[in-house]
Amino acid sequence: AAGRAAAEWDGVGQTADGHRVKVLANVGSPADARAAADAGAEGVGLFRTEFCFLDAATEPSVENQRAAYAAVLEPFRGKPVVVRTLDAGADKPLAFLAPDPEPNPALGVRGLRVAFDRPDVLDRQLAAIAGAAADSGAEVSVMAPMVATAAEAAWFAERVRGAGIARAGVMIEIPAAALSAREILAEVDFVSVGTNDLAQYTFAADRQLGAVAKLNDPWQPALLRLLALIGEAAAETGKPAGVCGEAAADPALAVVLAGLGVSSLSMNAAAVRAVGAALAATTLQAARDAAAQALNPSTPAATASGR
Ligand code: PEP
Ligand code: MG
Repeated sequence: AAGRAAAEWDGVGQTADGHRVKVLANVGSPADARAAADAGAEGVGLFRTEFCFLDAATEPSVENQRAAYAAVLEPFRGKPVVVRTLDAGADKPLAFLAPDPEPNPALGVRGLRVAFDRPDVLDRQLAAIAGAAADSGAEVSVMAPMVATAAEAAWFAERVRGAGIARAGVMIEIPAAALSAREILAEVDFVSVGTNDLAQYTFAADRQLGAVAKLNDPWQPALLRLLALIGEAAAETGKPAGVCGEAAADPALAVVLAGLGVSSLSMNAAAVRAVGAALAATTLQAARDAAAQALNPSTPAATASGR
């Protein structure tokens, strides 16, 4: 049935009754971007810029960054693309931004925290992104990884706007940020939930460690309750909240996320059609019912993942 439904998806992310939920792709290279466009993604919800420079020993020049980003943006002329600033550290170390040795890298200076010490690196990246946006004609917004507070979000948004980029957002990957979604949304234009890290930090379970993988299940009601708070904050402020972690690639969970108030879902290209089809096969009310059930399963076995 899923295969038949996938074949029927018309490329516009929406429920059967017309509630819009954009179906976007996660990319990190020109090949990813091409695959995403071919799969029918409506745009890019997460461009992991650090993937362009995993082998770089020194900081790439603004010109080199601009060319690397423009090559990824190229298939998305006129379409929305969310470019994430460098998420260096922990599971994605970058040689040119390595911190001093830390006992707990996942809790250390990673993501936006690197930029507090090196705002010059952020400003050069923002200049390159603004240039690549002009080169490609994509509708570019920029977001920061690993934001903990509204004050951090405000700091970032000011630098993005100073670089001449119209739309600034932040990722919600830290439970404190989920609990501050309303205050954060007051400072930025949108948020995007990184469920991979949000699960890791909510369950205190290393995302790279198989022994605790069961805790990193995005169907866990505790994680979904944080997403519900974010969905409520989005509704109250009238600003969009997306999801760009792996949770968005599960068609049944995508419906639950839509029911929680998420207005875009970003995933690997291979999942795009199945998620688009799952949305098309539900209604907003059915999605809300599925969300209510997932938030409070009558028994643990009643969750869709069976855990
Ligand atoms: C996430 O944490 O869910 C996310 C999308 O970012 P990354 O996987 O790159 O850390
Ligand atoms: Mg993350």
